[in-house]
Amino acid sequence: DIPLAEAGGLLTIDLSALAANYQELVRRAAPAACAAVLKGDGYGIGLAPAAKTLWQAGARTFFVALLGEARDLRDLLPDAEIFVLNGLFPDTEAAYRERNLRPVLGSPAEIARWRAFCERTGEGLAAAVHVDTGMNRLGLTPAEAVSVAEGRAELGFPLALVMSHLACADEPVHPLNARQLEDFRAIAALFPDVRASLANSAGTVSDPAYHFDLVRPGIAVYGGRPRGDVAPLRPVVRLELRIARIRHVHEGETVGYGGAHTAIRPSRVAILSAGYADGIPRLAGASDVRPGAEAVVAGHRCPLIGRISMDLLAVDITELAEDVVQPGDFATLLGDGLTLDNLARHSHTIDYEILTSLGRRYHRRWV
Ligand code: PLP
Repeated sequence: DIPLAEAGGLLTIDLSALAANYQELVRRAAPAACAAVLKGDGYGIGLAPAAKTLWQAGARTFFVALLGEARDLRDLLPDAEIFVLNGLFPDTEAAYRERNLRPVLGSPAEIARWRAFCERTGEGLAAAVHVDTGMNRLGLTPAEAVSVAEGRAELGFPLALVMSHLACADEPVHPLNARQLEDFRAIAALFPDVRASLANSAGTVSDPAYHFDLVRPGIAVYGGRPRGDVAPLRPVVRLELRIARIRHVHEGETVGYGGAHTAIRPSRVAILSAGYADGIPRLAGASDVRPGAEAVVAGHRCPLIGRISMDLLAVDITELAEDVVQPGDFATLLGDGLTLDNLARHSHTIDYEILTSLGRRYHRRWV
């Protein structure tokens, strides 16, 4: 861990907010059960603290993307049910068995390999099947799902879950939502004795028709906005950056790489000690043609200006009284009313990318 005195910023992760968000989603999902998605190092906040907190908050089923993540999670939570979303890679079957992990099988070839492995070991090891209903990424076709259902007696292993994934649930009026819901209803009906799961965060906060038996929220647990028209739950991440320098810029001069921002008046600029190497998008600052995200400096919202550098960024603090901030003080980039969404939107990205890109050079504190 990097001591605060040596770091460009302080990243504070509020685990009580994480637990409260999970419990709120449990409440909204009921009577469906509520899993939690922990891929990408717990959406960037740290797999271990996220997993332990969510287990304590009552979560028992977890989803990760990769077997490596699942192994780490198994070491943390010996009794959890753990699904691996990205499918069964060749020659990994024994690793699943060894740690009682559940692959999410998404093709006839993966199903055949799992079945063959179960035959070899003489054990029926539970797995999930993923059926594609419109994402066109992973998953069986609906016709392949029908074949699996018809061949259930010879499948050779129990099905722990049948799932699909929504492509556009963050846009509530997108026509693909209704089509996916209808198609998944038909798929779930093929497996009446198996738990069914469709909803991500957006699906969890939408019509209960999307809930089925188990919901799988990720971003909403971590305080991100689940849907454009639904407010985020409690913020989990707070980011404060060290002010490295305060300087004057003359009217007409530019700030940073590419001269993308021109000072339209004599300006005072705070240079903060973090940049895109720390996960702050290069486009987060205002240019001459578009606005940027903001930071809170001495209680005031001030605009980020110019391109974000690798390790530095600039904030226009002309509006602040002289002497209210000094080099060494901190400015807030997330928190004090500044949401993930705010930084993401100005950077042409999404909350997920901001969270999972949060850098390793901050002093991290879990509270
Ligand atoms: N289910 C699957 C298959 C996913 O890939 C993801 C994340 O992308 C989730 C659930 C959780 O989605 P969200 O973070 O939007 O809630």
